[in-house]
Amino acid sequence: MSQYDVIIIGAGPGGYVSAVRCAQLGLKTAIVEGRETLGGTCLNVGCIPSKALLHATHMLHEAEHNFASMGLTGKSPSVDWKQMLTYKDEVIGQNTGGVEFLMKKNKIDWLKGWATIPAEGKVTVGDTTYETKNIVIASGSVPSSLPGVEVDNDKGGLVVDSTGALELGKIPKKMVVIGAGVIGLELGSVYARLGSEVTVVEYMDAVCPGMDKDVQRTFKRILEKQGLNFVMGAAVSGVETTKTKAKVSYALKKAPDATETIDADVVLVATGRKPYAEGLGLDALGVKLTERGQIATDAHWATNVPGIYAIGDVIEGPMLAHKAEDEGMAVADVIAGNHGHVNYGVIPGVVYTTPEVATVGQTEDALKAAGHKIKVGKFSFMGNGRAKAVGQADGFVKLIADKETDRVLGAAIIGPAAGDMIHEICVAMEFGASAQDIALTCHAHPTYSEAVREAALACGDGPIHA
Ligand code: FAD
Repeated sequence: MSQYDVIIIGAGPGGYVSAVRCAQLGLKTAIVEGRETLGGTCLNVGCIPSKALLHATHMLHEAEHNFASMGLTGKSPSVDWKQMLTYKDEVIGQNTGGVEFLMKKNKIDWLKGWATIPAEGKVTVGDTTYETKNIVIASGSVPSSLPGVEVDNDKGGLVVDSTGALELGKIPKKMVVIGAGVIGLELGSVYARLGSEVTVVEYMDAVCPGMDKDVQRTFKRILEKQGLNFVMGAAVSGVETTKTKAKVSYALKKAPDATETIDADVVLVATGRKPYAEGLGLDALGVKLTERGQIATDAHWATNVPGIYAIGDVIEGPMLAHKAEDEGMAVADVIAGNHGHVNYGVIPGVVYTTPEVATVGQTEDALKAAGHKIKVGKFSFMGNGRAKAVGQADGFVKLIADKETDRVLGAAIIGPAAGDMIHEICVAMEFGASAQDIALTCHAHPTYSEAVREAALACGDGPIHA
């Protein structure tokens, strides 16, 4: 019987990153994965395939809407959907293959199959039970369901979740997306660019709950300009299907007694994700869960059962790949006897639409509600030469700093490459920088990042280009 220092259950971004770090720290490590390929939700049915489709359809949008004004004329491309899906699958394959290479390079054993934990210090996969000093559960999450709505992801299915939406049999004429969160808006954008008439039905009164109101408003306005329709404040009560069509029923919160309907060729249920820990045997082991069904951990990612840790989507916190990765590295350090660290106050969130939307730290609305005295520096991309040169001047950078100390507390960016630009602010926050520190830093011209500096200047004596 093999004896390991660590067995990690689940090879998503939390699990495989943790495995690499454990191996680097000299621990004898194995990873268990039930899927055919490594990389978890993120690489197989999440971050990576959605970004491949967003990229391909963004190219199409540029060709159809923006090429002519730049003097690029001629026939615009037509869509070969099958080839677009092949492109997406190839991107997945390159990435999952890359993780397999990393496992081999770091001498990590991949135990293929679904794991259970029969007792402390033991993991069973198939007919074999392995002994281990430590177990890290990184079993991730799955799409959450909606009462009255049955998901059918088979090709040709009319009601799908995000996994089904990444491989639809054909491009629907009409799509209804239930939920205006990150996943719904990204995938809704993909199909809107492909020519589908997309209607997003959302229970809340704003898109992307948790963001500042001005960010939500600007983002929704930009998406509407791109052709997405929104029904806000609407509670979906059910979806009826015939062989080829679906009908979504909902009631507006302001008129709860009147049932409205919308027809669709495909309905995408994007109402969030829930932690996944089926089949691990946690009940019998006495592993404590939170009220929301997540595995409860302490500040060192330890569960209440000695030698069992948990990280990523299956525990509390934002369901994001980079949060899972950070926890994966940190728990490896804890197991190796070092100090593991994750700064939960500085975890960026990005929506990969065009333009991108990126946020980090605290929001203006939350800080004001808490009575915190703040300054807000805002700068529109209309004043940024580079954004104008590429026709993407819609949006802004907003920097929030403490009124007295000038310390940066949070930021939001709607604009080109926002998901990359946000990291300048993350680093500033990690170093406890002030808005003035950013304002005094020379920024190359012409870059989108100059808008970050201008927002920092707006926290002080004022921006130059506004
Ligand atoms: P997962 O990636 O879910 O991996 C868990 C793995 O564990 C799975 O492969 C599963 O098969 C395996 N497993 C579970 N139980 C067992 C068992 N008993 N035995 C063996 N194996 C088991 N996040 C971002 O940060 N950026 C994005 O752009 C982004 N886009 C997304 C787009 C979509 C459409 C979706 C669905 C998600 C997206 N996410 C994004 C979220 C991101 O995918 C997750 O936050 C991330 O994958 C969580 O990582 P994890 O390691 O905790 O779990």
